[in-house]
Amino acid sequence: MKKGKKLYEGKAKIIYATNDRSLGIQHFKDDATAFNNLKKSSIEGKGVLNNRISEHILTCLNNIGIENHLVKSLNMREQLIKLVEIVPIEFIVRNIATGSLTKRLGIKDGTVLEKPLLEYCLKDDSLGDPVIAKEHILSFNWATEEEINKIKEITLRINDFMIGLFRAVGIKLVDFKLEFGRFRENGITKIILADEISPDTCRLWDVVSQTKLDKDRFRKDLGNLIPAYQEVAKRLGILHEQSNLSAVNFSKPTAVKMKKK
Ligand code: C5P
Repeated sequence: MKKGKKLYEGKAKIIYATNDRSLGIQHFKDDATAFNNLKKSSIEGKGVLNNRISEHILTCLNNIGIENHLVKSLNMREQLIKLVEIVPIEFIVRNIATGSLTKRLGIKDGTVLEKPLLEYCLKDDSLGDPVIAKEHILSFNWATEEEINKIKEITLRINDFMIGLFRAVGIKLVDFKLEFGRFRENGITKIILADEISPDTCRLWDVVSQTKLDKDRFRKDLGNLIPAYQEVAKRLGILHEQSNLSAVNFSKPTAVKMKKK
């Protein structure tokens, strides 16, 4: 598969074209950002870990019949993916209240929700990815009712599966973000899971110590993020003790830059 021109560059990933118009290459960068780009850093090894963890989870989801954009892993940082038209909504699933939910609604941090809460956010950095209602999605034709219902059904199945996957290795799945896209195949357009599922896009807490094993380490200056992501990969059985990754010379948090508002 030949790597073509850059199609899109986001905060943590780049998508390249290939010689097959329906396929692209998703490249995981080491860049970390938080608070809508106000906090930035490059964390050596993050892209490699997210590529590996996301590949593992998306492969597991494929095995249980949840279609997604992953075709195969290409190397330490890249995967071959189906090119989709992204639905411009971030689908946030919450099992435990924390993060923006607690700030927005004054809910006590750590409150276990009776059932998973699905929130919709408009994918628009310039607006700070605002929370929106289903009615907004329909009013502005960001997705159809049928697509939203389908996405909701898939999202809840993914949540059930991932709660079990992480619980089995002593990790609580607190919340996470999913993105979906439209993929056209044999004249039919269908909704499939896209983007990534990694400690960058999930909140993962150790069951016993409540230690945060996710991007909140970077957001809240809780210490080096890499050992936490390695711990997630090790527990999932996809990173061996002697892996090269542990030899990476991790950059210090002094690289963090805060932009003035
Ligand atoms: O910040 P907030 O509490 O809304 O985040 C909820 C979940 O969605 C967290 O797991 C966070 O990592 C993820 N998220 C994300 N990308 C965003 C916003 C949130 O992966 N742009």
